[in-house]
Amino acid sequence: MTPDEAQTLIDEIASQFAARTLEERLAWLHDSGRRIVFTTSLGIEDQVVTDGLASALPSASIVTLDTGRLFDETLALITETERHYGIAIERFKPEAEKIDRFVATYGLNGFYESVAARHACCGVRKVEPLGRALAGADVWITGLRRGQSAARGAVAFAEWDSDHEVLKVNPLADWSLAEIRQRVQDRAIPINPLHARGYPSIGCAPCTRAVKPGEDERAGRWWWENDTQRECGLHVAGAASELPARQNA
Ligand code: SF4
Repeated sequence: MTPDEAQTLIDEIASQFAARTLEERLAWLHDSGRRIVFTTSLGIEDQVVTDGLASALPSASIVTLDTGRLFDETLALITETERHYGIAIERFKPEAEKIDRFVATYGLNGFYESVAARHACCGVRKVEPLGRALAGADVWITGLRRGQSAARGAVAFAEWDSDHEVLKVNPLADWSLAEIRQRVQDRAIPINPLHARGYPSIGCAPCTRAVKPGEDERAGRWWWENDTQRECGLHVAGAASELPARQNA
């Protein structure tokens, strides 16, 4: 898909999505005849998207980034979700050689040392595998919501991702967390038990903590960093996936 073709779809999605249900939004993508990939972290939003795909867009490929540092609960939920919906979730893992280089340079948990080290780890364990997961895709579906954090407050229904040259579609962009929870309850969607223990957003185990009352939904991600724009690079244009040289923290 060219950027011009994508822009036509972006304009159509912008004018049509607001009045549609999740299933109608996903079914609309099916009509586009494109190769569609959904990346799931198994978080509560992504489980709602998986539930919608199972009925409205079963031809979409569902993939996850198995970073090697996920919670046991998340790994168990991958299998449970596959059984629940009768689907296959393809796991994309980091390259062993790059992990070895990261560990040799920074140490296994060197991401606590500096923002650069943390970005290097996310680059090796997430950003590079994401590139492989999206290879050949025309459309990339995510579970991003505007209400997740200030940094995501302007998430659009669709945008052109120039890094991966795909149309990125966010069908839950305008949903609230309350609406997500209601959908989970209504449809008995399997979710991560960590959500009930104070983890609204769940990433790698060493980089996620429970949030405190009143905190941003993503406050528990890389909590030791001060930057309010904390992201892993999956949803940031130009995020590096190569290992940079070590710098002094
Ligand atoms: S979230 Fe933490 S452990 Fe996971 S890839 Fe990023 S820095 Fe590494």
